[in-house]
Amino acid sequence: MEEWVEQLQNSVNTLARLKEFINVTPGEENTITTLNTKWGTTPYFAGLMDPDDPACPVRRQVVPSLKEKENRYGIDNYLIWKENRDTDEVRPDSIARQYYDRIAFTVTDVCANYCRHCFRKELVVDRELKLRMDVEEGLTWIRAHEEIRDVLVTGGDPFILSDDKIEYLIRKLREIPHIEMIRFGTRTPIVLPHRITPGLKKVLDGFHKIPLWINTQCNHAKEITEKTAKAVYDLLSCGVNVGNQAVLLKGINDDPASFKALHQKLLTVRIRPYYVFYCEPAPGIDHFRTPVEKGAELIRDAIRGHTTGLAQPMYVIATNIGKIPLMPDYYIKGKTETEYTLQNYQGKKTAWPNISE
Ligand code: SF4
Repeated sequence: MEEWVEQLQNSVNTLARLKEFINVTPGEENTITTLNTKWGTTPYFAGLMDPDDPACPVRRQVVPSLKEKENRYGIDNYLIWKENRDTDEVRPDSIARQYYDRIAFTVTDVCANYCRHCFRKELVVDRELKLRMDVEEGLTWIRAHEEIRDVLVTGGDPFILSDDKIEYLIRKLREIPHIEMIRFGTRTPIVLPHRITPGLKKVLDGFHKIPLWINTQCNHAKEITEKTAKAVYDLLSCGVNVGNQAVLLKGINDDPASFKALHQKLLTVRIRPYYVFYCEPAPGIDHFRTPVEKGAELIRDAIRGHTTGLAQPMYVIATNIGKIPLMPDYYIKGKTETEYTLQNYQGKKTAWPNISE
């Protein structure tokens, strides 16, 4: 049996299994025995948890909390609203649309790690929302919509599918004449790097007119290991770029030191920071959410000018009308007819000519 399958079959998803990895607190034990939710992770990712610290950034993403029952700020039926599922356009459940020329194609609701902060929590983690993940239905819809040029294959985690199923999806999408690029959203390089097997590499490899792109999700430097580095290198050697889409999470990466360390360490394993998402108002994840301005402040105080420019992600809020960028706005301090006053990360100012149109 391949190691990645073994990892999934030995998922850490019972109290007894969890106790093999960490010293479970009475609060955590109470949550696990009372909360009706899907949870669990791979033995590999469980091994990254601090056995004695309930505030460990990996542990908080894995172990459920009773705070998930609170919902002061979350939007009910969030996914239906966020993914515009309640509109006049008839679409299969597997297709989520916010833009004219690109869609998200949801092909599974299974994950290697059931992230406690997941914005698809209603569907993937709490399972209150049922959607049909019918791949054929989705492919038929994409074929009929010639305006779609870019497909994001997502889930759940699409890399939990077998090599054959992934190969089929890629082949079928590439047969559609209007498709120009295929993206995969997968957390496997972080939570299950064993998934990048020689068999999967064969499926992904090769020069092709319609390229593959991967975005993963890593939220803390602690999640990055030698195995991550190898998995990413293997993906790159297949011609597949790997970007990161972190989620801004209170108590996990919302302080300048953790935020900077995360983005610097991503580059050491060849992952390009792409987005930092504001933690979305899905129900039951209030305890992970920060003020909206926080992400821009972190880029101002920890990244821009403070480290390599490649380490800078774009900070965005993903809404029902698409992503709204929220970058720091301290750069332009003044403007006259002849010049701008610009400010750098240290608060130093300089003058720059204003060229009229
Ligand atoms: S891997 Fe993605 S879809 Fe799955 S639980 Fe985590 S955030 Fe949600």
